[in-house]
Amino acid sequence: MKSNLLSILIVSVLFPLSAYANGEKEDAFVRDMLSRMTIEEKIGQLNQLDGRMDMAKLEAMIRAGQITSLMNIVDPDEVDRLQKIAVEQSRMGIPILFSRDVIHGFKTMLPIPLGQAAAFNPSLVEKGARMAAEEATEFGIRWGFAPMIDVSRDSRWGRIAESFGEDPLLNAVLGLAQVMGYQGDDMASPTSIAACAKHFVGYGAGRGGRDYNGSDLTERELRDFYLVPFREVLQGGCASVMTSFQDNDGLQASANKWLLTHILREEWGWDGVVVSDYGSTGQLMRHGLAKDRKDVARIALDCGTDMEMCSKTYLQFVKGLIEEGVLAEDQLDQAAGRILRMKYRLGLFDSPYTQRLTHNAGSADHMETALEAARESAVLLKNSGVLPLNPAKKTTILVTGPMADAPYDQLGTWDMDGDTTLTVTPKAAFLARANDNVRVLWQPGLNYSRDRDMSSWKDLKKKASKADVIVAVLGEEQILSGEAHSLADINLIGVQKQFVDMLVSTGKPVVAAVMAGRGLTIADEVEKCSAVLYCFHPGTMGGKALSDIVFGDVNPSGKLPITIPVHVGQSPIYYNELRQGRALVNNRARPIDEIPRSAQQSVLGHSCTYLDYGDKPLFPFGYGMSYSSFEFLDAVPLKTDYAADDVMSVKVKLSNKSGFAGDEVIQIYMRDVVSSVSRPVKELKAFRKVHLDAGETREETIEVPISSFGLHNLDMDYVVEPGEFEILVSDCSDPAYCPSAIKFRISVK
Ligand code: BGC
Repeated sequence: MKSNLLSILIVSVLFPLSAYANGEKEDAFVRDMLSRMTIEEKIGQLNQLDGRMDMAKLEAMIRAGQITSLMNIVDPDEVDRLQKIAVEQSRMGIPILFSRDVIHGFKTMLPIPLGQAAAFNPSLVEKGARMAAEEATEFGIRWGFAPMIDVSRDSRWGRIAESFGEDPLLNAVLGLAQVMGYQGDDMASPTSIAACAKHFVGYGAGRGGRDYNGSDLTERELRDFYLVPFREVLQGGCASVMTSFQDNDGLQASANKWLLTHILREEWGWDGVVVSDYGSTGQLMRHGLAKDRKDVARIALDCGTDMEMCSKTYLQFVKGLIEEGVLAEDQLDQAAGRILRMKYRLGLFDSPYTQRLTHNAGSADHMETALEAARESAVLLKNSGVLPLNPAKKTTILVTGPMADAPYDQLGTWDMDGDTTLTVTPKAAFLARANDNVRVLWQPGLNYSRDRDMSSWKDLKKKASKADVIVAVLGEEQILSGEAHSLADINLIGVQKQFVDMLVSTGKPVVAAVMAGRGLTIADEVEKCSAVLYCFHPGTMGGKALSDIVFGDVNPSGKLPITIPVHVGQSPIYYNELRQGRALVNNRARPIDEIPRSAQQSVLGHSCTYLDYGDKPLFPFGYGMSYSSFEFLDAVPLKTDYAADDVMSVKVKLSNKSGFAGDEVIQIYMRDVVSSVSRPVKELKAFRKVHLDAGETREETIEVPISSFGLHNLDMDYVVEPGEFEILVSDCSDPAYCPSAIKFRISVK
């Protein structure tokens, strides 16, 4: 089987290949270290523990050289104290690598990754990641467990919050941007942290959207979708990868030699560190893949898991397995060598202690970065014209809703260290804007998303009658999304539906702002409210970003990185599904009550859809409105006939027909007209966010390598098959939402 070594253009053009290429010096260093280490010390380099354990035991293990990395210690004095024991009191003096889930910020929180993805802006992701690395390193953290680049198609899955959404290209580009932000130009800089791409692989495809649940991805699906972001991110220089919890096709990743050795090492030639997920090697017994802990150690190390996170089976059994001749010492050397190399690249041997740099959290710079990210991640889903409000006009605004004053919840999942005292809530932001023209009334109505107490609603209605417009901040608490927080019902939780009905019944226009960790099924709310802004969990500056958009200081530009279903039963739902023999032709479900009684089987047609909800989503991937109105005037390829190694250049002419300056995301999709295996209805191949002044028309040339049009054929070889390809230039995956979208064909010889 041949591998796909062709890089996707956006990735290879925007980002240089590995900045951390293997050097002779580091090889010599690693060889020298290994030659002086005992077997026990090498095994110690494979053992990562959670620092929240008995201190005397922890210290003794560090002295004995039994710990390579510690998670979850974020007190810099404690980090340095433990590091001193490792450096000065263990025989080899190998520094410990302190690690943490730095996912979307550290103290100053960015929007959740799903929100950041909506910005379609890799430089913003990179900037945010740099900010997070600067803050985390002050606390001694040098290894962050992100980016999560699991292709995620199911909003029931709580961890969709932590992903960059459903598209492989978007995951690849933004994942790599996060890596560049974390690792910087020089991973040895005291403000850099090693990145960890996770979860390798297919974790987002758990059956039924239940976390940790097994998946059934075929090799072709893995290669064409799920492996794509990993290949790009790892080959782009990401220092480490984390194996996933779930089994795919019966094999959990830590026990999958094909994945960890064949794909990672042999096909991709990658030399970084493979770490298991938390306790996941130990769980091989629960999967029925190992009979005992010794078996776990044998399988996981043999398959290519370099470091165990918290399972400790290597520590206990690898020495015996080598003595018995079951594992080779060379396997241990390979794993320990890769870990030592990562520490070397981080400069830990020269500079093991926390650098006491200036305190960055909450600095004007970082708050500005968080604000920029929150502004760009908001997606305008509906606007009947109520937005933006005119700040020069006398207006009374009622700000209400369970997420309007939730400094903790608006930070979203994985805010392990997020500083809630920095949070600017919508309540605070709107009240801060009150002036002679703008009067702001405030009443929560509900105190948190699951609150069922309606006792204040009568009062609230009275307040609403005095307002010109209502801003209702709805959604879900952060605890309802994230790891192990899947939901079967993804409607607005609690009595929020009734809450919206009550607000709408006042006759005042309701602007709904949704803060959530997933795509909620909000069809009713979209219908009833005058405007809907999807903010995801927007992080520290979410409230300010929202008020800036509502008042028109900022023109919304976010695009959905996921498909939002009408009904949860449509999940998983995603734009790039494979072509079907019986796709729904008119794309519309028949209202269930219109179906005649005793109708014959055939009258409803024979299509691949749901009788009651159809196959159309509420909103498609790539969708998002603006206060501007953009129009594609033209999109022409430089030529129409290509060879497989050519680059297609498309000249796109885009016009802003409105009086509002704004940003638009040009999206280029490809459809393979005929292929040897069925392919997606369309696939995103390039995107670019551009700024257009009011009334401006501009031309952009976007290049797409034809090599990215390939597929894995029946022999599992990556090939660009000759033939016709249909190209769509649009601002949304569904051109029905973009009347000026342009299609053309090219052919490849
Ligand atoms: C998660 C990982 C995380 C690790 C360490 C696991 O439960 O799946 O994503 O990095 O814990 O906290």
